[in-house]
Amino acid sequence: MANKIPTRIYLSEDEMPKSWYNLRADMKNKPDPMLHPGTLQPVTAEDLAPVFCKGVIEQELDETTRFVPIPEEIQDFYRAYRPSAVIRAYYLERMLDTPAEIYYKFEGTNTSGSHKLNSAGPQAFYAKKDGLTSLTTETGAGQWGTAMSMACAFYGLDLTVYMVKISSEQKPYRKTLMEAYGANLIPSPSNTTESGKKILEKDPNTGGSLGCAISEAIEKAVKTDKCRYVLGSVLNHVLLHQTIIGLEAKAALDKFNVKPDIIIGCAGGGSNLGGLIAPFMGDKIAGKSNARFIAVEPASCPSFTRGRYAYDFGDTAQTTPLIRMQTLGSGFMPSANHAGGLRYHGMNSTLSKLFHDGLLEARSEVQTDVFDAALKFMKVEGILPAPESSHAIKAAIDEALECKKTGEKKVILFGLSGTGFFDMTAYQSYNNKTMEDRVPSDAELEKGFATILDIPQNK
Ligand SMILES: *Cc1c(COP(=O)(O)O)cnc(C)c1O
Repeated sequence: MANKIPTRIYLSEDEMPKSWYNLRADMKNKPDPMLHPGTLQPVTAEDLAPVFCKGVIEQELDETTRFVPIPEEIQDFYRAYRPSAVIRAYYLERMLDTPAEIYYKFEGTNTSGSHKLNSAGPQAFYAKKDGLTSLTTETGAGQWGTAMSMACAFYGLDLTVYMVKISSEQKPYRKTLMEAYGANLIPSPSNTTESGKKILEKDPNTGGSLGCAISEAIEKAVKTDKCRYVLGSVLNHVLLHQTIIGLEAKAALDKFNVKPDIIIGCAGGGSNLGGLIAPFMGDKIAGKSNARFIAVEPASCPSFTRGRYAYDFGDTAQTTPLIRMQTLGSGFMPSANHAGGLRYHGMNSTLSKLFHDGLLEARSEVQTDVFDAALKFMKVEGILPAPESSHAIKAAIDEALECKKTGEKKVILFGLSGTGFFDMTAYQSYNNKTMEDRVPSDAELEKGFATILDIPQNK
């Protein structure tokens, strides 16, 4: 058994990454800059200052520093729940009877249940460093709100979370968990903000939306002294923090000289996928690897596979800077199905650029196929996967079965972004066969595209 690769590969504390990796520094074609929606000029640090804290703004706008040192305090925060293991999926391989080697990186072992804590910690740290006393954010499914509640408890900051109303009613345990960490939970829309009041006037019984919760959280941050807003995905500083996933994975695999041929992740706003692939993509851009990269998104919200590459708003209320990205239009309303964390109209700008330039592939999957893959996986691997993460499992299984056909011994790495313990309603509807696959028609997508701005940059 001397050369056998262990089922779980861990780094020691000494081997943990000391810097994040800024992939943009190595991209020959950079993503297009964020634009101010009024002037259509690239945003400046001053434009962003009322909303975000300084450390984060600096990272968002930096496309030249290749390695960004992780402050000691954040390395310390990471050590509380990292490194996460790279797991060799021996049992899944055996079940599939594939010659492929399958590995996955599991981010679901912390209490928030997903990779989101990797960016929540740094964002709370930078807020504290700026002398802020409180933060605001929104949460849909609840993973980001939980991660931010944990990080704010750790650093001693107050947190207000605007939770999409319908979701706060459907997921009471998420709410309890966030409150246990000391967060102030407000179902959105609420009458604590002007934007919330406006929406309630129009539709008092609305269940709310992520777009509306974002607008409330930003308004509250801008109007409160020593307070800023934090976001859990989509932006490049979030992607930067998430590179801890890819850097750990690469260091762990390097110990056994394993070089992945195919790297797969699920994509909502792009942060776990971007974080996982970054160092491997860096090698590809440098001509040192010929790996393939696959983004997997839900067929119900297909921003890569059926979206447009255009400048668009990040929120439904159209208040954010314009981001050039794969988008379905900020007015796109995804069906309320359960692939919770993947229901977002846009996509991170760096990943959108890589896709546009042919360096990143994308595919979409319907939900029942995704749960089918999740059940195959959980029966042999001993982990209950999040529905979001199971999109990546589906693609990994398909690639492994392709190897079975061709006899190729490819090395597959995928991101298992979280645990499914808070998603029992979705598993239940899969089990009792009431789960539906909703794929938007072209006409429905056109409605979303019609909300994309008609500006010269989009011609
Ligand atoms: C939020 C979430 C996602 C999607 O977000 P990305 O920014 O695309 O990574 C995926 N998986 C889990 C478990 C999540 O909580």
